[in-house]
Amino acid sequence: MMKRVLVGLVLLAALGRPTVPAAQAGPTASPVTYEIFAVRFGVLPQFPVANLVAGGDKDRKLDIPVMVWVLKGSDGRVVLVDSGFYEEKFVTRWKVQNFTTPAAAVSRLGIQPDQVSDVILTHMHWDHADGADLFPKATVWIQKDEYQYYTGEAWQDPKRRGGGADVDVMSKLVKRNMAGQLRFVAGDAQEILPGITCYTGGKHTFASQYVGVNTVKGVVIMASDNVYLYQNLTMHAAIAQTLDAASNLQAQDRMRTLSSASGIIVPGHDPEVFSRFRSVGEGIVQIVGDRPSSAR
Ligand SMILES: [Zn+2]
Repeated sequence: MMKRVLVGLVLLAALGRPTVPAAQAGPTASPVTYEIFAVRFGVLPQFPVANLVAGGDKDRKLDIPVMVWVLKGSDGRVVLVDSGFYEEKFVTRWKVQNFTTPAAAVSRLGIQPDQVSDVILTHMHWDHADGADLFPKATVWIQKDEYQYYTGEAWQDPKRRGGGADVDVMSKLVKRNMAGQLRFVAGDAQEILPGITCYTGGKHTFASQYVGVNTVKGVVIMASDNVYLYQNLTMHAAIAQTLDAASNLQAQDRMRTLSSASGIIVPGHDPEVFSRFRSVGEGIVQIVGDRPSSAR
């Protein structure tokens, strides 16, 4: 009788989680957790806050960091959320201060470009996607709808001409795909790697995504530009650049729910990230460590 119940339970477990072998689904499977670092590789000087926060102060300007986020897995995996930029035209056009390439910035953590196994692009804007080719061995992850739109339809309306995408950045991503090193994320709430889940709805771009990361403190949300500044969260104000402000606010609410255990949502361009968390190197803070007592 006991045996039958057990078999039934195993079958139920297998049916409920078709992609996970029953042997791994039990409580003995140890979840992968990640240490998280924010890495600054430059500063955009005097950026108008009104371009970041809907209804923001028109006179206020802020030196905003450009950054990438490093996830170091308990299984040894090294993942980047966004890849920054390095092409000369962006650095000069945007008068970037204290610039170093994202690869050089990440190396301050002792991570060489070849060690990065995965790069998750939250959206295709140049300041987040241009640097993917600095990490030649990585698999690049992007929402399927985002990739398809910005390599396709976005260029077919002469008034939009790319809809904010850069021709060189998109060309590099197309090549990355043709080299067999790009993977699509198929919509919302997709766990693409153990302990790393992508979510849609932020609507910074056509199909921008944000990332939920399993840590020793619970899930931490890497919002990227779906939340530009902490001010978006505290004022419950949509980002100034969104295709759908209502959707963006809903996404912010959902981020709070998803990260309720850790209470940590990391915005895309807030200088305060570097004072809120513990500095562990030049332009680097540790957002979550590998032990519950560390960091913050
Ligand atoms: Zn950005």
